[in-house]
Amino acid sequence: MLSYRHSFHAGNHTDVLKHTVFVALLRYLAKKDKPFMCIDTHAGPVVHDLEGIYARKNKEFETGISRLWAKLVLPPLLDDYRDQVRALNPNREKLRHYPGSPQLALQLLRRKDALRLIELHSTESANLEKHFRDGDKRVQVTAGDGFERVLKMLPPPQRRALVLIDPSYEVKDDYAHVPATVRDALKLFATGTYMVWHPLVQRRDCARLPDALKRQCELAPTGKVDWLHVTLNVKRPAEDGFGLHGSGLFIVNPPWTLPEQLRETMPWLVDALGQDDSANFSLDFKIA
Ligand code: SAM
Repeated sequence: MLSYRHSFHAGNHTDVLKHTVFVALLRYLAKKDKPFMCIDTHAGPVVHDLEGIYARKNKEFETGISRLWAKLVLPPLLDDYRDQVRALNPNREKLRHYPGSPQLALQLLRRKDALRLIELHSTESANLEKHFRDGDKRVQVTAGDGFERVLKMLPPPQRRALVLIDPSYEVKDDYAHVPATVRDALKLFATGTYMVWHPLVQRRDCARLPDALKRQCELAPTGKVDWLHVTLNVKRPAEDGFGLHGSGLFIVNPPWTLPEQLRETMPWLVDALGQDDSANFSLDFKIA
């Protein structure tokens, strides 16, 4: 049974990195007039109440979005991301609501674009279905396994797509499911942009994941595809080996503009979200 609820972690440092890049990728796709589809394989809630019982428990947002909230100057990607969060908080002085990836996508999709939300947890999927009950024609909610269901949605009719693969890694098999899903997705739709989130934890399967993903990009049946890997490490790994000390994003078919945008953004994130003097970032990519 799944027990992970993303609301406990809403707006934390991993959400800041993930959602900043998610917004940048949605913006890039929306630059062209042609419609696109966004598929969120592990959707989670639409909006989080930071004063609700889950988010209030550990207040993870205090070492995440809160640290950017009142900054006077931010680089463009972070500024754009914060504006998306501000759109949900009409009283800008106070940060109360935090957007999940479905909400960010809704804010940036145009009328002609499409959003597919997949969620396995029965409470979360029921909440999504309830939220969209009155019908936003762009959105379809699917209750089920994101790794399986996404493959049935590819290739999308628009022939342009951003697929967010954002598992909780609560189930150990997620580490194997992620590269297998990217492999199968590339067979069906080689030109899609795939964004995979992963934690930085002291586990062998976590350390191996980026190489497993790079291998899928090298072996894609239509020829090698571009990739980018960025990590944000906010603190020294714990001596007992437990806990999360940062996160990473692996992006297949990234926009060519992304490395430069991240070179500008990541030092700011290290500075704002770093919790000790071992905070750092890495950026690695292969873009032909
Ligand atoms: N994408 C969300 C965001 O950025 O706001 C956060 C998603 S959270 C990290 C992961 C979600 O995946 C949880 O809501 C969990 O219930 C759900 N989940 C876990 N295993 C799943 C699976 N195999 N397929 C689809 N959803 C799954």
